[in-house]
Amino acid sequence: MYDVLILGAGPAGLTAAIYSARGGMKTLVLERQMTGGQIATTDLVENYPGFPDGISGFELTEHMKQQALRFGAEIREIEVVESVAPGRVHEVKTSSDTYQGRALIIATGVDPVGLGCGGEARFTGKGVSYCATCDGALYRDKVVAVVGGGNSAVEEALFLTRFARKVYIVHRRDKLRADWVLQQRVFDNTKVEILWTAQVREIRGANTVTSMYVEFTDTHEFRDVAVDGVFLYVGQRPNTEFLTRLPLRRDSAGFILTDDELATGISGVFAAGDCRANDLKQVVWAAAEGALAAQSAGRYVEDLGSVPPDGVDEEDSDACESSTA
Ligand code: NAP
Repeated sequence: MYDVLILGAGPAGLTAAIYSARGGMKTLVLERQMTGGQIATTDLVENYPGFPDGISGFELTEHMKQQALRFGAEIREIEVVESVAPGRVHEVKTSSDTYQGRALIIATGVDPVGLGCGGEARFTGKGVSYCATCDGALYRDKVVAVVGGGNSAVEEALFLTRFARKVYIVHRRDKLRADWVLQQRVFDNTKVEILWTAQVREIRGANTVTSMYVEFTDTHEFRDVAVDGVFLYVGQRPNTEFLTRLPLRRDSAGFILTDDELATGISGVFAAGDCRANDLKQVVWAAAEGALAAQSAGRYVEDLGSVPPDGVDEEDSDACESSTA
């Protein structure tokens, strides 16, 4: 039996683990992919305090992971398929095990959304990508497009200029959403061409991508633009779809609603970071929410006191860590 189970090992989950474990809570973090979450594939994080020259996303989250481990948190890379809360014990199921905890922090972050245009599914992995850091080096001296005008699109377009000879940014409006400093960098970069008020209607090719069919929505003109790769950065959705058995309150886009202490309304369940309905999707904010969720979860566990949770024999509690194993 753990005090606190944390789903997700991005900045929110890892910071929750640091605070929770350091506060004396028996803490387990479960992460479906690699520790670090989305930010681990970000080339350079420039706006997290304490790193005047920036730091790679991988390095930053690796530091967070080591810090959590130092205080005794356990971290396992295994996909959670379900979470239920029968009585006062929270159960988190993977394909092989069931873990039990008194409190649960959901910090599962977001997944990229797609465009849904023709060719996207067919060419995913064959020229369509959602991760420039992962796939950018495959496009040395080639022509690529980045779709979207937010911070992700602009940052990743700049990253891709290291490899590609030309990078299109395809944006549906005539003004970028990205932070001013990033906008200045793409405007100054001669490898970048922005296709304004443009929508990719189809991604075309044979075995791999060869072009994108673009509509310029102000003039309703269409153009077939030759590209070797298309990177999609058109937004994100919360990675909480697997939590079907938790009656979470969500906003219209599916992000988890909480109160000011990050409680979801389900007893002992808290949410933190990008999967929560909040106004700032930033590492510093995710980390702060992780700390707050850990504090709230810790208070909840302390309030439960030493009364054994429903159906659990405390003397036999270690067996609960992996009850179906
Ligand atoms: P985002 O800010 O939601 O931007 C999505 C972009 O995709 C927008 O430009 C949007 O256009 C465009 N878009 C959405 N649906 C589209 C469609 N169907 N067709 C064409 N274009 C479409 O998403 P994000 O860039 O992934 O960032 C998510 C959050 O993380 C944001 O809060 C962002 O600030 C944060 N973030 C921060 C940093 C950083 O600080 N360094 C880095 C990455 C992400 P419109 O502009 O017209 O809506």
